[in-house]
Parts: sequence; structure tokens; C-alpha cells
Amino acid sequence: MNIYACPKCGSPAVNVSQLDKGPADCEVCKWKGTSDQLLIQKGEDEQVKKQMDALFIDIAKWLKPQYPEMMKILTRHGVIDPNWEQKHLIHAVTLFGKAITKGVLEGITSVMRSKELTEVVRYKNVS
Ligand SMILES: [Zn+2]
Repeated sequence: MNIYACPKCGSPAVNVSQLDKGPADCEVCKWKGTSDQLLIQKGEDEQVKKQMDALFIDIAKWLKPQYPEMMKILTRHGVIDPNWEQKHLIHAVTLFGKAITKGVLEGITSVMRSKELTEVVRYKNVS
């Protein structure tokens, strides 16, 4: 996983499209451009990757006991059909589980990069 930073002010509070050369903007200085213009924080890449992998594993462990409930929700909303063969149901739940774990991690990452979190931390430091 790459940690991006604004090419103008160096802030990591940037919104990045997942698309190649997709739009990107900075929440701090309001810079707008494309994702290929962003700085990639390379110095800590390995360390950050290890931390993110460890975080991913912990999130996956936390979510796994929720799978039966998740299956009920997906069934109730017609996303999966309980009449599917057992092996297909298991495969589907595994796919959703992985995607949801990734989504949770992406949500956490976006808050980590956000201006709001920077402000929360700043507020805590002065109070
Ligand atoms: Zn900026």
C-alpha cells in the first residue's frame, strides 16, 4: 500500500482516485491534479506495508465471527441465495468477507489521512 502526499504542501490528507492517473486533491491546500502527480512516501514504505498487513490480519480476525450474521444480511437483501450449493455459499461468503475486510481497511486509511483526524489530534494536544 502506498501512502500518498500532496506535491504542493506535502500533506498526506489527499483524496486519491483508485484509477490510474485519476483525479486527486488535497484537503489542506486545495491542490487539484491527478494521482500520478502525488508524492509517494517511499522512505517508510516497507514499515508502513508491514503495519498495514498486520492491521489487515487483525481486522480479518475481528470480522470472521460476523460471517454468519453477514450471510443473513446478504440473504435478506437478495445478494446471495440460501438455495445455492453449500460450496458456492462458502465461496461467496469468503469473497464478501475479503472485500469487506479490504473496505474496512480502506475506510481506516482514509480517516488516517484525513484533515479531520489531524484536527482531532491537534485539538487533543491543546486541551
Ligand atoms: Zn496540499
